[in-house]
Amino acid sequence: MKKNLLGYTLPQMTEEFVALGQTKYRAKQVYAWVYQKRVLSFAEMTDISKDFRATLERDYCLDLPKIFTRQDSSDGTIKLLLEMEDGAKVETVLMPYNYGDAICVSSQVGCNMGCAFCASGLHRRTRNLTAAEMMGEVLVMDQLLSQWGRRVTHIVVMGTGEPFDNYDNVLSFVKAANDQSGLSIGARHITVSTCGLVDGIRKYGKEGIQINLAISLHAPNDEIRNQIMPISKGYPMDKLMEAVKDYEENAGRRVTFEYILLAGLNDSLAHADELADLIHRYQIFAYVNLIPYNEVAEKPYRRSSMKQVKAFADRLMKRGVNTTVRKEFGGDIDAACGQLRSKVLKEGQE
Ligand code: SAH
Repeated sequence: MKKNLLGYTLPQMTEEFVALGQTKYRAKQVYAWVYQKRVLSFAEMTDISKDFRATLERDYCLDLPKIFTRQDSSDGTIKLLLEMEDGAKVETVLMPYNYGDAICVSSQVGCNMGCAFCASGLHRRTRNLTAAEMMGEVLVMDQLLSQWGRRVTHIVVMGTGEPFDNYDNVLSFVKAANDQSGLSIGARHITVSTCGLVDGIRKYGKEGIQINLAISLHAPNDEIRNQIMPISKGYPMDKLMEAVKDYEENAGRRVTFEYILLAGLNDSLAHADELADLIHRYQIFAYVNLIPYNEVAEKPYRRSSMKQVKAFADRLMKRGVNTTVRKEFGGDIDAACGQLRSKVLKEGQE
């Protein structure tokens, strides 16, 4: 089995090549070819000796996932179902914001977190994605964008999967994407989103990186959270909030709380007040990002009206909580997390 060098951090690649008797500089050269010149064939890396290129050809690769299905939305959103070497399929989405092109990266094949409203969890996790596969998601999208002279400028690890259930690979991937000799995507342009794995949040806070952290909260109390997010039973609200508070202190960064508004479940003004109270009680300086729910056919939940979303946002802001409402993309394609994959897998069974 050849090792895929995509997604190696620069220190990891340096260590790998030094162990083969190469100079430290070799990894920097390969990094420059791959990420700056976007050359994925060792044969073209002309400033590397023929001998070492032969070693690279024999033992390593820079393979990208294949595009299995592509959906283009009228608003510019591109959704890809990518096929990995073993046939596993994962979703990747490009969201064209006015400030840049953001890609939503999947971190696992399927997901075990079981959130009640989410289409990704319709299929259990079969395996983790490697750092190379996650980098592959970015580079495939980047190749598509290059025809319009555009590049991926922002990364959110918010596709299928729980990043902190695949901690090491996700960290390698985001560090490689952030490295100045690599893709060089600014730390503040990269966001990792977790459903609330407390141990992961604590570890992440001590990484010494500036990469953003988002927490999928979706409820102002344990009672509602337990109903829709099974993870909440293992990590109740007080443990989660204490970990977020410690994260803010250790990392010196604010988190973003994501909050999907589900009609009649968590979207009343009393819930907004309860959320504001919670955030103030723990003296957390978080932002809240309200997410209009993307309805999933197999799930009973309904989206709140935009009027309700706005009223909820206004109440939070009045209570001194920094609040934004997420822009929606791809309304005319299978844009909800995991929907395209789920549809294709279902069709395959019929
Ligand atoms: N497991 C991680 C990352 C993947 S989910 C996490 O939970 O954060 C990314 C975000 O999309 C989460 O906030 C998730 O709750 C949300 N999400 C899932 N299904 C959704 C849907 N149908 N509509 C809107 N947001 C959804």
